[in-house]
Amino acid sequence: MTPGRTCNDLDSLHFDNRFVRHLPADPEPSNLRRQVSNTCFSRVAPTPVSAPELVAVSPDAAALLDLDEKAWQSDLFAQVFTGNRLLAGMDPFAMCYGGHQFGNWAGQLGDGRAINLGEVINRQGKRWILQLKGAGPTPYSRTADGLAVFRSSTREFLCSEAMFFLGIPTTRALSLTLTGETVERDMFYDGHPEEEPGAVVCRLSPSFIRFGNFQIHGARQETAVLKQLMDYTIRTDFPHLGQPDKDTYIRWFTEVCQATRSLVLHWMRVGFVHGVMNTDNMSILGLTIDYGPYGWLEDYNPVWTPNTTDAHGRRYCFQNQGQVALWNLAQLANAVYPVIGDAAPLKTALEAFSRTFQQGWQTMMAQKLGLARYHPDTDESLIKDLLTLLQAMETDYTLFFRGLADLPFSKTLSDNTVMPVPGPIKEALYQPEKIHQDYEKQLSSWLQQYQKRILQDRLPQKMRSKQMNRQNPLYVLRNYLAQMAIDKAQHNDFSMIHELLEVMKTPYDFQPGKEKFAEKRPEWARNRPGCSMLSCSS
Ligand code: AMP
Ligand code: MG
Repeated sequence: MTPGRTCNDLDSLHFDNRFVRHLPADPEPSNLRRQVSNTCFSRVAPTPVSAPELVAVSPDAAALLDLDEKAWQSDLFAQVFTGNRLLAGMDPFAMCYGGHQFGNWAGQLGDGRAINLGEVINRQGKRWILQLKGAGPTPYSRTADGLAVFRSSTREFLCSEAMFFLGIPTTRALSLTLTGETVERDMFYDGHPEEEPGAVVCRLSPSFIRFGNFQIHGARQETAVLKQLMDYTIRTDFPHLGQPDKDTYIRWFTEVCQATRSLVLHWMRVGFVHGVMNTDNMSILGLTIDYGPYGWLEDYNPVWTPNTTDAHGRRYCFQNQGQVALWNLAQLANAVYPVIGDAAPLKTALEAFSRTFQQGWQTMMAQKLGLARYHPDTDESLIKDLLTLLQAMETDYTLFFRGLADLPFSKTLSDNTVMPVPGPIKEALYQPEKIHQDYEKQLSSWLQQYQKRILQDRLPQKMRSKQMNRQNPLYVLRNYLAQMAIDKAQHNDFSMIHELLEVMKTPYDFQPGKEKFAEKRPEWARNRPGCSMLSCSS
């Protein structure tokens, strides 16, 4: 490829398949479901499909591969990114990993419906692994079909890109393609399966390695392979840590803890709930990975989970995400311990996670409120009281902070005055008619507390508002918006998918004409499947 130019020819992508070159492969070539020991992956070809149809591309993700519009306008593009055609240099494989699902060790899981095509080195020398999700069975498909349906693929495609533009670490999504096949799914697990359109998303990531990749070798006492995978990961994705040795392993684990901490704090900043934080869904790079029954907080509710499978235990609800991340990191520590042989530094890293998570949460909340820094004397109660009130008043988490940034505080609120809910905050209420005087009193008192606090910082209103709007997005991929786009697509109208992709590119900026994408969830969506709760059936 000529340096400095985008390419419109997929054939000129440069592949360097490091994972398969350096790690032990399963010798068996078939895709029959089986246990695969002492190996990191199995070579497996995608299953051909009848009628690939490209629905959407993320131009920004394509640019990571130096691809421009001509590339995705070619018929070859849809063929390659549904798995019908392989490019020279591709060497497809599925990874072997295990995991704890909902707190229980599940044994071998692996890429049951993800097939890595190969690793592209782009013009800047950066590595991007191409992975198809939904391209047919692999040795790790267990009892399932290896396929994905259009509704969940659309949700993954849009949310990966929305997350990236929110500034949150994530795997990327290059393309969303219909396969022309149908896939049977029992969406409500109630014995009424239906045929749904099949789809494939092509994901991009510098690494798709999960905590579970290490766990499977730990659990099977395959210490030599475990060490090989750790050394590979450090050399490939953490080269700044130096050559692998005991100290490097500890610094690596500490860095994984910190990346995971930062990720979860970002999620909580924007009101994202992953929904299935099993250890096989935890990226070693601290990326958001495996978009399934995820969701966005609408009314603030700390125990909300979008995942119907988790509705009873609420293990993965909004407020538990930090604790669960720590629990998952502890499982990773157990897995890598045999190679490190010293538990104390791993424990230290886990303790640092707890401590810094709490600090990070405080700093993040202070930033959401536009405060220069967190002052424990005043801000602990400021934050606690606010969250209690947001929940009691059924307040939209996203719109509240944007509304608060708009409040001028031009005249000083006097103590103990009770005022009606200010307009910008009223906008964020789901049931404004239910706000009686008691709430007005509590909100007025909180706003007085808040005003005192911001006056201490002496930040001009404009600056405070600007800073807050950089922390608090206006546009998030609300569940009902994604669902509306999916509903429209059933009538072959993909316009809303394209429009959402575009709006979510600048989520912190007000976009004239796009107000409807910043609205709180409408009443019709309150209890509609796909809008409030989702099953894992994807
Ligand atoms: P998830 O809950 O999506 O993280 O999936 C857990 C495990 O099940 C992973 O090993 C997936 O690859 C696998 N899996 C999920 N859905 C399918 C499917 N339709 N076909 C094959 N494997 C699947
Ligand atoms: Mg998964």
